[in-house]
Amino acid sequence: MNHKRYIYAIGLIIGISLLTLFFHPLLSPPKGSWFNTASSEPPQEQLKEQESQNIEPNPIKPTSVKLSAFPAEGIPVLMYHSISTIPGNNLGVPVEQFAEEMKWLKSQEYTTLSLEDFYQALVNNKPVPEKPILITFDDGYSDNYQSAWPILHENGFSATFFIITNSVGPDMMTWEQLTELTNQGNSIASHTQTHPDLSIISSQQLEKELVLSKKDLENHLGGNVEALCFPSSRYNTKTLEMMPRLGYKLGFTTNPGRVHLGDNPLTLKRIRIPGGMSLTSFQQQFK
Ligand SMILES: [Zn+2]
Repeated sequence: MNHKRYIYAIGLIIGISLLTLFFHPLLSPPKGSWFNTASSEPPQEQLKEQESQNIEPNPIKPTSVKLSAFPAEGIPVLMYHSISTIPGNNLGVPVEQFAEEMKWLKSQEYTTLSLEDFYQALVNNKPVPEKPILITFDDGYSDNYQSAWPILHENGFSATFFIITNSVGPDMMTWEQLTELTNQGNSIASHTQTHPDLSIISSQQLEKELVLSKKDLENHLGGNVEALCFPSSRYNTKTLEMMPRLGYKLGFTTNPGRVHLGDNPLTLKRIRIPGGMSLTSFQQQFK
């Protein structure tokens, strides 16, 4: 009897050992096997996406830019409208003035950010070039393409253009021009469909302005449109509540000041550059 028990015991040990050997690979399956795809692949894909965004060559960005933390003094976001001489209206900045300002920014070694880089810096604390700046244009004037873009390009800069989608056409920038600006590394975002006062229109109208302008830009230009510039800086809590649900992550006002880390990304300040501003006054914005 004892002998038989001994044989059973040995048989049991051998059996367990064989089972363990057989199932061992399942206990720590190799990466990428069917066993762990569900848990590990999405983060890997996200990482890959982030990596490819980071190393994606920007035709405009200089190759040897030193990256640093979000500047304590804030990031200046410049606001322009038309780059032309409009008698009696300082929303128009004469071409010569604009050229002088861009030349000075270049001499001071400022680096323009794309909207995406700006968002990543502000919200995810991603590093930025040492002297970062965002240059924005409201309304989509033709002269932004004809006059401002060549000057920006010449200085190695890119910009963000806020477009009123129902106004795209021969009187303002065309879809072809906006496509070219996009292809050259500029950012295009929404300035609504019809430029209404967002603080007084109905919820239904508000949603339409936000949804359809975004769709129109995305359909024509590709990519995701996630920034909104409030027409005449008019918005209310309803606007701010609706934005995230409709896919907007950034909102730009005309409230004066720089953007600091921790600022509400939906109510960002900008620095208005009026026509007739002296170069000295312009330079003072950066002190
Ligand atoms: Zn506007």
